[in-house]
Amino acid sequence: MIGIVAVSHSARLGEAALELALQMVQGAGARVRVAAGAGTDADGTPILGTDALAVAGAIDELAGDCDGVLVLMDLGSAVLSAELALELRLSDVPVRLAPAPFVEGLLAAVVSAAAGGDLDTVAAEASAALGAKTGQLGAEEPVPEQVAPSRPAGDAQTRRVLVRNPQGLHARPAALIAEASGGVDVRLRRLPDGPEAAAASLSRLLILGARQGDEIEISAHGADAAGALDRIAALFDDGFGEATDSLPGNGNGNGNGNGTGTGTGNGNGNGTGTGVGTGSAPEPVAPPRDAAGAVTAGDVLRGRGVSPGVAAASVVHLAPSLPEPDGGVVVAESERAAEVSAVERATVAVAEHLRARSAESTGEAREILDAARLIASDPELLADARALVLSQGRTAARAVWEAARSHETALEALGGRIAERVADIRDVRDRVIAVILGLDLPGVPEREEPFVLVAVDLSPADTAALGGGRCVALVTEQGGPTSHTAIIARSLGLPAVVGVTGATGIREGEIVLVDGDRGTVEVGPDEERVASARAAAVVVEFDGQGRSADGHPLALLANVGGAADALAAAEARAEGVGLFRTEFCFLGRTDAPSVDEQVIAYRGVLAAFPGRKVVVRTLDAGSDKPLPFANVDDEENPALGVRGLRIARRSPRLLDDQLRALALAAAAESALVEVMAPMVATVEEAAEFAERARGAGIDRVGIMIETPSAALLATEIFEVVDFVSLGTNDLAQYTLAADRLLSELGDLNDPWQPAVLRLIGAVGAAGRAAGKPVGVCGEAAADPALAPVLAGLGVTSLSMAPRALGRVGAALAAVDQDACRRAADAALAAPTASAAREAVGAVLADVSGL
Ligand code: PEP
Ligand code: MG
Repeated sequence: MIGIVAVSHSARLGEAALELALQMVQGAGARVRVAAGAGTDADGTPILGTDALAVAGAIDELAGDCDGVLVLMDLGSAVLSAELALELRLSDVPVRLAPAPFVEGLLAAVVSAAAGGDLDTVAAEASAALGAKTGQLGAEEPVPEQVAPSRPAGDAQTRRVLVRNPQGLHARPAALIAEASGGVDVRLRRLPDGPEAAAASLSRLLILGARQGDEIEISAHGADAAGALDRIAALFDDGFGEATDSLPGNGNGNGNGNGTGTGTGNGNGNGTGTGVGTGSAPEPVAPPRDAAGAVTAGDVLRGRGVSPGVAAASVVHLAPSLPEPDGGVVVAESERAAEVSAVERATVAVAEHLRARSAESTGEAREILDAARLIASDPELLADARALVLSQGRTAARAVWEAARSHETALEALGGRIAERVADIRDVRDRVIAVILGLDLPGVPEREEPFVLVAVDLSPADTAALGGGRCVALVTEQGGPTSHTAIIARSLGLPAVVGVTGATGIREGEIVLVDGDRGTVEVGPDEERVASARAAAVVVEFDGQGRSADGHPLALLANVGGAADALAAAEARAEGVGLFRTEFCFLGRTDAPSVDEQVIAYRGVLAAFPGRKVVVRTLDAGSDKPLPFANVDDEENPALGVRGLRIARRSPRLLDDQLRALALAAAAESALVEVMAPMVATVEEAAEFAERARGAGIDRVGIMIETPSAALLATEIFEVVDFVSLGTNDLAQYTLAADRLLSELGDLNDPWQPAVLRLIGAVGAAGRAAGKPVGVCGEAAADPALAPVLAGLGVTSLSMAPRALGRVGAALAAVDQDACRRAADAALAAPTASAAREAVGAVLADVSGL
């Protein structure tokens, strides 16, 4: 292990740099000492300076358990102290002084040391650390040479992965990769022809410049190569634990949001909680305006829904950003020092303010506020502003404006998602200028009443401040699905629509209905729609047990797409998992996941429900969820093509590997695993699947009922499987012959359609006769009004997005078995969907007030 001594003039700088570096490795395996400052004065104020004895002491302290010590220094005299310390130290451990940038060098050295680098490697890593920034900003300095030793001859094992997390390979993922490499010689290369980096090198990994959607080839060599590949590939697949969106190009435009529904229910988006679809956004069309230039009531504005849910409230506009400070003023030389002080004081005040807000926040909001704080205290920004004041006589405000602009331009030039970070710099710029000019801070106005915040764009700090406030939804004219607005909105559970052309033309105070699933903003909706949106927005807690008023149990389960969803579902007290959409673990993968990779992914979900039921669905690739490794052809009608279980006709190995992985994962965890196949149409398919699954070691095997054919054959299908689960999204699509992705056909894709209800009834009756369970895991399961009907039709469990659990639980608990049966009879007798809703409403009004 290599130890590191950080020598700084400022104790606060030293500690802060250390804190940052240790976050990269989460404190693991790093031995670092800070030798900073020159003590305190009589008032206890820290004295800036360095102390050679303290540096020597730090080296000696590390010498006991380190094979070598690298010393990093901030400014000139720190170098002198470090050199003197080499004379003064008592130990004889090898010591190297690194000519490296202090902060970047410390980060790179800590990561490299934690990954097991020797003194040469750690020192080279630190020295190369500026390369990432140089490369990113397009500066002309050459990027330092690869620091990893050349690879010995022999076969390397390789794996291809996709960058799934929205921010790409920034410092934290890079540090996780370095840590996961565990001393194995692992290299990463951005395909098709990007640079290569050693996994242990933080700076080289950053220079890869890998962004979401990029494909990376990982190769490993030597002992535990396979283990290192598995660990690193799992990190990529998990998006490094960051919120992931559906990747561009996977065609998953509409299947991934948490629908709450507003009463029209189109059967799409049965939630997994992993974000919302990134299908192509509608063409922006400027809405009509009245004579005063405002958007008129009755208009529906469209954009990209980036955070699911529905909310209605009056509009509040973000306070306008500050006007550009006058560039024509030249400050007299005698006053320039005072202007520089004004810049310095303002940046410190803004950084402190952001630090205080970050201390009150959690999760992603905290990370974003911390990032803004780091921009406010960025020494380069400050140095640029200072230079503009001193050399050109700019006012303090103007200097900050211009310094920020050059940083913005550099980011904009990089394009794509990195350019989305420009809002971060503008936000900090405006805060600093407001402090300099003594103005109110720009940002989100405070209100007593709930409101929908409308803005051209939102700064990350504004968005992060929304948690716990009265804001119920966000609408912006700019921004993309990976912008901070989108990330924070999702983490706060606020419906959000971005890219809404003309949104700022909606008058302040106007009521709007924001639908984050459909990407719409209705201006001046009628009262009924507002009332139902408001009711849908209130989260009702679930007590963890689904049952009718007379105590008859009906399990309420969760739909999940991966480990993060499963944890959220367990927190929401779901009784188990009724649908684990395994394809969500591998969206965007170009190669089939190995059995080992699958075991890791599945165990993540099973571990969240020890001793509880987890129903796993085998890959449902195709149609709205194509997987490149499973769906090879372009099909004329993918919804009617080789999707779901049908893929096993062409690639039986894919199914067998998955079943084997599921059996292994089930054996390793205590969850009660059941496995079902999607898109089954015939009894033969059901029988063959059951045989293969049992042969692979799965105890309980079922199928999804998603085709009218399977529903009509339920009696025979029950002879070969242990349970069924109704996928009402597809069942409605195939029964009504209406594409579930077309919102225009939403009225047909409705589980209340009598034909769908009658098919569900037939399956329920077959289940009762066979004494076997019948679940529902389509969007219908999340409709509280439908729950008593489904119970009456013989359904024994409902599986839904976790946030629907409370409402569905309450609806069931309000009615007894007899009422459920009467509601089911009324629904089955109705000739139309609306008649079914009305008839059921009339039956239940007496007993439950629903
Ligand atoms: C369904 O079709 O109802 C279902 C649950 O499966 P998916 O939505 O994933 O197609
Ligand atoms: Mg389906």
